Amino acid sequence: MSFRKFGKKGFISETKVADFVKHLNDGKIMATKCNRCGKLYFPPRADCPYDMSTDVTWHQLSGRCSLLTYTTAYFAPTGFQDEVPYTIALAECEEGVKVYALLSKDIGEKEIKIGMKLLVTPLPLPNDRITYELKKA
Ligand SMILES: [Zn+2]
Repeated sequence: MSFRKFGKKGFISETKVADFVKHLNDGKIMATKCNRCGKLYFPPRADCPYDMSTDVTWHQLSGRCSLLTYTTAYFAPTGFQDEVPYTIALAECEEGVKVYALLSKDIGEKEIKIGMKLLVTPLPLPNDRITYELKKA
């Protein structure tokens, strides 16, 4: 039995936003936009949590954003030891949505400044996987 049968309201979870990864592979950072209330969501949501609308469409973000806050981790859980130190950042896109992602390793710790301009960028990973990160604009 799939998750579609769960709970009082029906939500189709992964399927409607699966194209997010395809768009990333095409170099596009896509949010979803609710056609009823106009709210944008990133990461994309299959349905609007504000008004429960299922009338949601893809909306490409410019990727341009500025740094709101960040933290650098020097210890990592099992499996991520090779990644330290890494910096997790929260940035606000010019479209108003907030992006929570790793800061590119290209940005030196001393360069990091609140308000600095960043760009949400697809980041290919080994084994044909992909994610996104925040790079210097
Ligand atoms: Zn809505």
